[in-house]
Formats: sequence, structure tokens, C-alpha cells
Amino acid sequence: MDLLGGYLPGRARLTIQHSRENLYHTPVVCNQCENAYCMNVCPAKAIKRNDQGIVCIDEDRCIGCGTCVEYCPIEMVKMDPDTRKAVKCELCHGEPLCVKACPTGALELVFPRKNR
Ligand code: SF4
Ligand code: SF4
Repeated sequence: MDLLGGYLPGRARLTIQHSRENLYHTPVVCNQCENAYCMNVCPAKAIKRNDQGIVCIDEDRCIGCGTCVEYCPIEMVKMDPDTRKAVKCELCHGEPLCVKACPTGALELVFPRKNR
């Protein structure tokens, strides 16, 4: 499986939370929120929901202000240190690599609600 050539957890678009003295490890991913704060606060209108219901960032429109990073309640938007643009989980165009790579099958893609 091609995992894009490297192990860089700091660049992952999901987060692993560790709790209870490191006994529990829980992946946290973007909820593709129905009322997406990140989308609502973007001054450049760079964040939109696509036809599949996925909240996506248009890198060409993003001005790198970081407002979406501050407003996501679960810290799922990050600034790319190279491009200085916002990035978030966009479900790898419907086929998430994290789901493919999980050795125990613990991750499953449950598709977000389509935009109504
Ligand atoms: S980045 Fe945060 S606010 Fe935006 S859709 Fe995902 S979880 Fe919701
Ligand atoms: S960093 Fe980009 S996507 Fe986020 S609020 Fe600013 S312009 Fe919008």
C-alpha cells in the first residue's frame, strides 16, 4: 500500500487523543459538521461543502488567516507549514487512507449527510 512515502504523524489530518495515563488512544476526525463553524467564519469563502457532503478547503481562495483553525471546536483544521494555508480531513476524496491502513479494521467510513 502506498502511504505517500513517509511517516509524518504531525502532518496527519486526524488526531489521536491519549487519555487515562496513556491507556486509551482514540482517533478524532473532522465531523463534516452540518453547521460547520470553520465554513461559517471563513472571510474568503474558501470553505465549501461538496456534493458528497464533505467540507472542503479551496487552497486557491484561502488567505491563510487561521480563523477556521480557531473556531473548529475539536481542532480539526490545521495550517500547513509549507503552504501556510488551512488543511483539514476531506476524506481523501471518499476513500480515506487511514481506513485502508488500519491493521485491525477499527476505522470505517460512514458517509456524511448530503447537503440539502
Ligand atoms: S473542521 Fe471542525 S468545524 Fe469544520 S466541519 Fe470539521 S469538525 Fe466541523
Ligand atoms: S485560513 Fe483560509 S480557509 Fe481558514 S478561515 Fe482563513 S481564509 Fe478561510
